[in-house]
Amino acid sequence: MKQYIVKIKSTRHITPDVLQIVTEKPLHYKFTPGQATDVSINKTDWKEKKNPFTFTCLPDDSFLEFCIKTYPLHKGVTNELLKLKKDDELILHEVFGAISFKGEGVFIAGGAGVTPFISIFRSLNSKNEIGNNKLIFANKTKADIILAKEFKGLLGNSFINILSGEEAEGCFNGQITIDFLKAYVNATTPNVYLCGPPPMMDAVLKQLSTLGVNRGAITVEAI
Ligand SMILES: Cc1cc2nc3c(=O)[nH]c(=O)nc-3n(C[C@H](O)[C@H](O)[C@H](O)COP(=O)(O)OP(=O)(O)OC[C@H]3O[C@@H](n4cnc5c(N)ncnc54)[C@H](O)[C@@H]3O)c2cc1C
Repeated sequence: MKQYIVKIKSTRHITPDVLQIVTEKPLHYKFTPGQATDVSINKTDWKEKKNPFTFTCLPDDSFLEFCIKTYPLHKGVTNELLKLKKDDELILHEVFGAISFKGEGVFIAGGAGVTPFISIFRSLNSKNEIGNNKLIFANKTKADIILAKEFKGLLGNSFINILSGEEAEGCFNGQITIDFLKAYVNATTPNVYLCGPPPMMDAVLKQLSTLGVNRGAITVEAI
C-alpha cells in the first residue's frame, strides 16, 4: 500500500485538547471534503501504528491540515502527536471516507466528529453555496467548540451549539434530545449528516428515526 512521508509545517492548539497540524502535501495527493487518511508518526516504534484523521483543509490548498483531539492519558498516537514540532514527519496512506456533501441539509456533530464538516463547509463557502445548511454541534463546554469563530462567520444563526457540561450564552444546554432536534429536522429534511462518538450517534439515529427521517437521507460516520 502506498505511503507518503510529509513534514509538519506547524502545530497549534485550537481548543484545550484539539491540535491543528499543518503538513506538506504530496504531489498529486487528492481528496474530497469529508475524506480521511490513516496517519502514522515517522519515528521508531510508531511507524506501524495507524490512526484515521480527516483532512480539514480544502482540496486545492497547497498544504494538508488536520484537527486532532488528543488523549494524553491513552499514551497512544494522539499523545505522541502532542510532542511533534515543525519538520518532524508523518506517514500518510490512501484516502478514504464515508462522508461527502450530497446536498443541502442538517449537519450534526459531536466533538471531533465535526472534522469532516470543516472541509465541507469551507468548500461550500469557497463556492458561495452555504445556503440553508445548518450545523448542530454538541460539546461539553464552550472552550471545546472547534473553530467556533469560523463556523459562526460561515453560518451565522445556522450554527447551533449545545453544551452538556455547562451553561453558556448563545448555546443550548444538555444533550441532544428529540425535543431539541425537532426544531431543525423533520421527515422532509433532504439530508442529515451525522458524525461523532458511537454512543452519541446511536442516540441521535434513534431520534431521527422517531422524527420520521428516512434512513436513506442520513449520511453517517463514527469517530
Ligand atoms: C474515518 C475516521 C476519521 C477520523 N478523523 C478524526 C479527526 O479528524 N480528528 C480526530 O480527533 N479524530 C478522528 N478520528 C478518531 C481518531 O482516529 C481516534 O479517536 C484517535 O486516533 C484516538 O487516539 P488515541 O491516542 O487514543 O489512539 P491510539 O493510539 O489508538 O491509542 C489508544 C490507546 O489508548 C487506550 N485507550 C483507549 N480508550 C481509553 C480510555 N478511555 N482510557 C485509557 N486508555 C484508553 C487503548 O487501549 C490504546 O492502547 C477519526 C476516526 C475515523 C474512523
